Formats: sequence, structure tokens, C-alpha cells
Amino acid sequence: MAVFTLPEGMIGFYKKHIDYISEHAVDPDKRRYSNPDEAPRHYIDMDHYGKYAYDSVPHQWNKAVMKYTEDTLKAYGIVPWHIEKMVYRLTQAFKSENMDLILHYSADLGHYIGDSHVPLHTTSNYNGQATNQKGIHGFWESRIPELKSEDYDYWVGKARYIDKPLEKAWMAVKISNAALDSVLTFEAELNKKYSPDKKYSFENRGATVMKVYSAEYTTDYNALLNGMVERRMRSAIITVGSLWYTAWVNAGKPNLDKFDNKDISDSLKLADKAEELLKSDSDKDIKGHSD
Ligand SMILES: [Zn+2]
Repeated sequence: MAVFTLPEGMIGFYKKHIDYISEHAVDPDKRRYSNPDEAPRHYIDMDHYGKYAYDSVPHQWNKAVMKYTEDTLKAYGIVPWHIEKMVYRLTQAFKSENMDLILHYSADLGHYIGDSHVPLHTTSNYNGQATNQKGIHGFWESRIPELKSEDYDYWVGKARYIDKPLEKAWMAVKISNAALDSVLTFEAELNKKYSPDKKYSFENRGATVMKVYSAEYTTDYNALLNGMVERRMRSAIITVGSLWYTAWVNAGKPNLDKFDNKDISDSLKLADKAEELLKSDSDKDIKGHSD
């Protein structure tokens, strides 16, 4: 979706590879099982840092490390800093005109930006486990879009240049976190009015039957949220487009037409290469460029 926000000079290339990007947008979640460093990149537990975390946690990585130590930051999630890192990596990929890495980091960046827009990615109570609302994560993030996204308006305008990607990432986290109270409170309220047999229904998924939040319950919850899921999705889309665009501009707007006749190399090789990079310069660049 973010592809359609892009300007001339970028949109042709991204349209050509739109399938690759959407397919690989889920890669970071898959890596969580194989790479122990992966999980904290997807969230930040703002509640760990108190009520005013947005103000009390230093936004710059170096300063946050000084205040809390790297181990603590990693224990409670690093999504805003990882977005900054991915913007940097994508910029480097554009500069070196490495098509595989451009696509790889575009997909990755899109994923982490998406996560930062999800309220439940900003709390330790990420699946309602602390408030007896287990399952709310997938409810908000998957079930509502599954039933409602057909009606969403995905026209979000044109990608814009972002002066401070790190601040943009923090703002996404801040707004997500501000919405958290509604996410939990409205579901708890609604839950009181529903008996379990009306709250859930059973649906066939391929060969299995799954217990899901019923259509009625989903509709009522979505109405209480008053367009929140759509708003967060729209914001994620324009932010993804804008940060892709920003990386491209910062790299000197390389001509992407040169890749017209080039195909993506073996995706396995690409994934390996990227994983190697992640390991070899793991924290080097985030420290080097965040000042
Ligand atoms: Zn994720």
C-alpha cells in the first residue's frame, strides 16, 4: 500500500517488486524464532519506564543506553531505535545501489513501522494477559482488519521527506501508547455485555476449525474504537512511504531505472547476506549515526 505514496523515480521500481515486498514484510516475525536478537526490535514496553516514558526515556540510543544500559533497553524492546537503524541501512543500500538490499530493508522497515503503530506493541501487557483479555493482540491487529479493512480508505497522499526519522518513530510509539487505554478499556467494557458463546464463533480455516472473535463482537468493538485501527493503518502506510522516500533522498536519489532488467537474486542468498550483515555490524551503525 505504501508503494502508491511514492513519487516518480521510485514508484516504478517499487511497483515492479510489490509482491516481493508484501511477501517479505512478515520475515521479521519469522526471524523471531531463529534469532534471539530479533524479538525486542518489534516493540517497546513503555509501561516499564513509568507514566511519562515518552519524556523520560532519552530518544537517542546512546543517551538511553547511558541512562538504562543496553541490556535493559533490549529487555523491554527497541522498536523506535530499530526503525532508525533500518532507515540508515536502507539509505546505505540505495547509496551502494544494491537492489537486493534495497528490497530487503524496505520490507523490513515497513514491518517495524507497522509494529510501532500497534498500541499493544507499546506495553508489557501486549496480549491482555495481565488484564484477563488474552487474545486481544490478534483481535486488534488481525481480526478487525480481516473483517473491516475492505471499507478502509487507503488513499493517504504522497510520501513526504522526514527530517528526523528517529523522532517520527518515537511519535508513532507515543500515539500508539496513548491509544492503549481505549484498546483495553473498551474491550473490557464490551466483554461484560457478552456471553462467551456470543463473543466467540468458530470458523473453518483450511482443514482446521478455529475459535475466533465473532463478527458481531468485532463490529461492536470496532465501533467503540471509532476508526482507530484504520487511522493507525493509514498512519503506518504514509510513514512507510515517507521513510522509504527519505532514505532515497538522503542517498542522493539514485536512478532506480537501472534495475529495470534485473531480477531479484536467489532469495535465500539474500536473506543469508542480510543476516550476516546484521550479525557483523550489529550495533555499530546505530551508535555511529544517531548523534
Ligand atoms: Zn513484528
